[in-house]
Amino acid sequence: MLPGRERALATVDLDAIRHNVNRLAAPLPAGCAYCAVVKANGYGHGAAAVAKAALDAGARWLGVATVREAEELRDLGFAQPMLIFGPLTGEELRRAAKAGADVVVWSRPFLTEALRQGARLHVKFDSGMGRLGVDEATAEKLAAGAAGSGGLVGLMSHFATADQGDEFFAYQLSRFLALAEKLKARYPWLIAHTANSAATLREPRAWHDLVRCGIAMYGLSPANHDPDTDDLRPALRLSSYLAGVRDVAPGGSVGYGRTFIADCPTRVGIVPIGYADGIARALSNRGEVLVSGRRCRIRGTISMDQLTVELPAGVGRPGDAVTFIGRSGKERILAEDVARLLGTINHEVVCDIGSRVVRAYIGSPSAT
Ligand SMILES: *Cc1c(COP(=O)(O)O)cnc(C)c1O
Repeated sequence: MLPGRERALATVDLDAIRHNVNRLAAPLPAGCAYCAVVKANGYGHGAAAVAKAALDAGARWLGVATVREAEELRDLGFAQPMLIFGPLTGEELRRAAKAGADVVVWSRPFLTEALRQGARLHVKFDSGMGRLGVDEATAEKLAAGAAGSGGLVGLMSHFATADQGDEFFAYQLSRFLALAEKLKARYPWLIAHTANSAATLREPRAWHDLVRCGIAMYGLSPANHDPDTDDLRPALRLSSYLAGVRDVAPGGSVGYGRTFIADCPTRVGIVPIGYADGIARALSNRGEVLVSGRRCRIRGTISMDQLTVELPAGVGRPGDAVTFIGRSGKERILAEDVARLLGTINHEVVCDIGSRVVRAYIGSPSAT
């Protein structure tokens, strides 16, 4: 028998989450609250555990994308202010109001229905993202309508290029500043918010009354570079183990489609994790893993539940841990490295970690 190991394991360090929340929230003035963005199951890390750790570290709001995500957190007892970012159907709006979650408004019909339901509203201003949201004049009208019925809570917008900090970022920020100032003069209780992780790290003028941080709270870089440069600690480690080791003779192949054929005697390890667990099939013959502190190449085509790695001489025995994201010895693989290889961003790499991957938590337990 092999030593007891999880087939596919995401180990999340809650102390790292707390460190990152402190790192992001420490410079904020007293009037500015921190919203922990835990949509998409906490970017694959587990929404409830991350939410608890973030609240330990001083977060006051929780941010989600869907009504289902809000309901799940409410069912677990999270009573904090909560904002659902995404669009809602009439039925979902009813459920959001029942769950006591704030919702985002950018149309008159939605406003009317939301006020009828007694919802708490954040008006969405499109300062340049070019998705959902409205212009200044419409935002003013929606705010007036919401305030008239006692449902106005916030004004929000979202940056398209906060990770680049370019001229367009400055343009969006100045538009938001102008509208926020105008509306806060009318509605002094208004919570103005527009900063995601990148803007929170980069630009104090984007903080306003609330910052909405996702990616950086997980210790991942908003700009897809090394998180160390922003003093962020990656919280997640993704690992499996060597279920078997075998020698492939020259001319022999491994896996579907025979995409790897050994040209010399080659030792390979079989790892019981695959694309259903979030190891992208596009990493076939390209990705790397760590075994006993050594980098090893993924060889052959990644299957749904298994993949194969080439083992250097003297490395790898059945049962040894295989690290896909995280440290082993002096080596480490960052989610950012995997993202670069795949032509994507770290957000997608961690969100893709499958639901059958076991989540385990390390670090001091949460106070709440
Ligand atoms: C996802 C999301 C965020 C968090 O963005 P990060 O770049 O992960 O910090 C903030 N605001 C809104 C509206 C979002 O949808």
